[in-house]
Amino acid sequence: DRLSAVAAPLTPGALADGTAVPLLANLGKPADATDAVARGAEGVGLFRTEFLFLSSAQAPTVEQQRESYRELLAAFPGKKVVVRMLDAGADKPLAFLNDAHEENPALGLRGLRALRASEDILREQLTALAEADAATEADLWVMAPMVATVEETKYFTSLAREYGLKTPGVMVEVPAAALLADRVLAHADFASIGTNDLTQYTMAADRMLGSVADFQDPWHPAVLRLVREVGAAGARLGKPVGICGEAAADPLLAVVLVGLGATSLSMAPAALADVRQMLLGRTLDEARQLAAAALDADDAASARRAVAQLTASLP
Ligand code: PEP
Ligand code: MG
Repeated sequence: DRLSAVAAPLTPGALADGTAVPLLANLGKPADATDAVARGAEGVGLFRTEFLFLSSAQAPTVEQQRESYRELLAAFPGKKVVVRMLDAGADKPLAFLNDAHEENPALGLRGLRALRASEDILREQLTALAEADAATEADLWVMAPMVATVEETKYFTSLAREYGLKTPGVMVEVPAAALLADRVLAHADFASIGTNDLTQYTMAADRMLGSVADFQDPWHPAVLRLVREVGAAGARLGKPVGICGEAAADPLLAVVLVGLGATSLSMAPAALADVRQMLLGRTLDEARQLAAAALDADDAASARRAVAQLTASLP
């Protein structure tokens, strides 16, 4: 069948009909770039900047940040690199930014909310990124984590543009942002769906808590319907919609996400080969059929089963 007939290790991500689906890397530090490039990453879809902040008692200086961002961008000349602003709070609290005593930190002052409350940190990060951008050849995109509202979207994208950053967007990790994706995308150049948090907030199940781990399944049709909202809004407005949560690393789910309108997929570099291979086996029309089957299920297990069955009956 088509799935086993093709083996093209480092080609750009694409479907069987030639539809391009750029395959990008999730990175946690600049030193990880070499491995991502070796595995054929076409750029970076999520650069988590927390590592710069988690190791110190105070925020790093603009100079320290600039050097890290410059090292990252230098590894991807001419390629897209999406850098996420500091996402502190909840599972990754910072002494100088977060209140450690929130009762429900996942619902508290985290992500962009925390940055707004300490705007000097956000401004320093944007300054360092603009300086690194000016010194390198990568195509730098910047995004804010944990955006829930249109107002937050406008706040972040206009602030980033003030610093000369040309492509500001938002992460869609909160159901409110997914449901209003058309309004959100009217003010952002792109959306990147963080399926880990989007699943947590859709299912009301703490992603850190083992006792509710069964709820943390991005195959759940409720999550997939929200992805569809964002994909459809992106298509209507002509704006890219990436996926950067763990869901993109599941090869079969990756095809479903493309069928729902995702225009790029970002994942841990080790997952790139299997996802690349699976995409090459399916056309866009088939990906949409698979997505429809998943959307029509009652729960995550049924969605997974329906898609596995349908894919077995395709060429
Ligand atoms: C996500 O929530 O899916 C995501 C990519 O961000 P993080 O896992 O860093 O919260
Ligand atoms: Mg997240």
